[in-house]
Amino acid sequence: MYIHVKLLNGFKEPLLYAVPPEWDTEKLVGTFVKVPLKERLETGVVVCAYAEKPAECTFSVRAAHTREPFPADVHYTSFIQTVSHYYRIEPFYFMQRVRQFLAQKEVREVDHAENTPIQGSFPQLTDEQQRVVDFVAEHITTPHYVPTLLHGVTGSGKTEVYKRLIMHAYAHKKSTILTLPEVTLALQFERMLQEQLGNELAVVGFHSATTPKEKQKVWSMLLAGTPLLLIGVHLPIALPIAQLGLIIIDEEHDVGYQEKKHPKLNTKEMALFRAQQYGIPILLGSATPSMSSLYNTEKKQWHFFQLKKRFQGNFPAIQTVLLTDKHKRKNFWISQPLYDAIAEQLHRQEQTIIFLNRRGFSFFVQCKQCSFIFSCQACSVSLTLHGQHLLACHYCGFSSALPTTCSECKADEKEFLKKGIGTQQVVSILQDLFPQARIGRADLDTVSKKKQWHETVRSFQEGTLDILVGTQTITKGYHFPRVTLVGVIWADVNLHFPIYNATEVALQQLIQVAGRAGRVCQKSTVIVQTMVEHPVLEFIDELKYLDFYIQEIASRAQLSYPPYARFAEIELKHSNQSCLEHEANDLAHSLRAIALQLKLPITVLGPAQPLVYKIKQYYLKKIYIKSTHITAVLTLFRSIEKDAYTSSIGITQNPLQ
Ligand code: ADP
Ligand code: ZN
Repeated sequence: MYIHVKLLNGFKEPLLYAVPPEWDTEKLVGTFVKVPLKERLETGVVVCAYAEKPAECTFSVRAAHTREPFPADVHYTSFIQTVSHYYRIEPFYFMQRVRQFLAQKEVREVDHAENTPIQGSFPQLTDEQQRVVDFVAEHITTPHYVPTLLHGVTGSGKTEVYKRLIMHAYAHKKSTILTLPEVTLALQFERMLQEQLGNELAVVGFHSATTPKEKQKVWSMLLAGTPLLLIGVHLPIALPIAQLGLIIIDEEHDVGYQEKKHPKLNTKEMALFRAQQYGIPILLGSATPSMSSLYNTEKKQWHFFQLKKRFQGNFPAIQTVLLTDKHKRKNFWISQPLYDAIAEQLHRQEQTIIFLNRRGFSFFVQCKQCSFIFSCQACSVSLTLHGQHLLACHYCGFSSALPTTCSECKADEKEFLKKGIGTQQVVSILQDLFPQARIGRADLDTVSKKKQWHETVRSFQEGTLDILVGTQTITKGYHFPRVTLVGVIWADVNLHFPIYNATEVALQQLIQVAGRAGRVCQKSTVIVQTMVEHPVLEFIDELKYLDFYIQEIASRAQLSYPPYARFAEIELKHSNQSCLEHEANDLAHSLRAIALQLKLPITVLGPAQPLVYKIKQYYLKKIYIKSTHITAVLTLFRSIEKDAYTSSIGITQNPLQ
């Protein structure tokens, strides 16, 4: 028997080796082997196996050295093949990734009993909770692919449901994957569940904060087939796991599941593929489920459960304030109601969170007089300002000069709000208004200052700060019991972010921010400042979330946006801007021609300049593809691969959700 082996670091071409007669040759493809190369031994992946020596091979081949053990996951190869095909990458990519996780030196000892977990106490589940547990548990016992969406308001006991299901899987000697959309959250869950479940089953993390040594330990447990709970962000989904019984995706709506770099894998999507292929249940949980998941509960037989009650605290009172009102105030960005509320908080010595979306950076131009926003007629997204005077649509490429007066109220250009506001600026405004207040800034844009950020969050938790000003990172998972006021500086800035799902993402974020208030106390307030009285602001009340869905899904249908259509993008990169322009135009042109010729149900948008249009030395352009059929998109992609286009430009294509 012969095998083609692709080395993990080195040659692109696979090399041929003979299989030593004593090897167990079953399921060789997709496993790791050590092979001789000149004087060394290299690790590689078996990509092909042949009973006979391939005819084109006329020279003598060396024998492979050793077969590395691989977890006994019978579905793994076909799963990797499915996702590779879907993302249009080689299966080898995943093998390389898995291998990278494991450091050079092997760890033999598996040490299970190193922490001393506290026995977890399990509260009596409510009927709402019990129903979900019973339903999913049944499909763990008798394995079936059953996607289930759990919509539970913040603090409604979703984690409690996850815990029971994890234990149920364990009782059947099965492993569970639990993913969270961010490493800090994964760490939090890992610690918590280790404490609560750790003396019953192995609770292990597998993410970028897990040390290589810990990862090797996990690997040896996977090799031994030990049932475990594997917690992470993206990595666990790609690991071979024998006896995988359940996948749980927490915060399923979160954009963190979409990887940012090529090949732009989507962990939630991969998890769904995996559950399907393995024939096991998958539970997706969120206080603010994604439009597409809710849509799937209607159209794709996903199961749907709700948890509507909070166990502690109460829902905050929400007050919306117009920034455009003409009341005299010391600063445009701090309305009178917010000013009064902060003063009251300081007086009562209760804490306040001031939230600013994104970097408070606007990608659109808005009239401060009447709040009109320039937007694209064709795409119904806001137009982006390029330089000082050009407005452009970043989907379809439409552009026009910035008018000198407002199209709505004819106010002068001087009234246009072009840049937005940053956290630093908010801090200094507040410090001016409230000199006695102790104010901290938690803004993870300065990632380099991660340590400082943790310190700020800690001082706020310990109560040595009165006000915390921050962006969305403070919305995730942190528990600040003394916060009874949340102020949102500019709620609608993200609503006009020029992407099709801007409203959905902005609302989810606002609900998360609002959820920081009233975790423990009965009485708390959220003040939402906005330029426009956007209808979506009414839905910041968590209990109305499904009403938002009904409204939003109708508008998606009307505009043929996902989930009614698939959206894919091609990203073109070049160091020379005019070459890029040229190539992008050509490519868009031929895509349209191919779609027409093959009668593919596809709309090609662009080329357009993305929001971030220059990265390092490269200029970027994007072409968007919209279709009701993912297969049509894949066909189109395959047809351009055969083309010469990829020669001089870097193209990243990914079928987005
Ligand atoms: P979520 O994950 O939905 O935000 P959690 O699972 O963290 O909510 O639960 C919120 C709080 O309610 C926790 O302190 C948890 O211990 C408590 N809790 C959850 N379920 C129950 C229950 N059935 N009985 C009593 N307390 C519960
Ligand atoms: Zn447009």
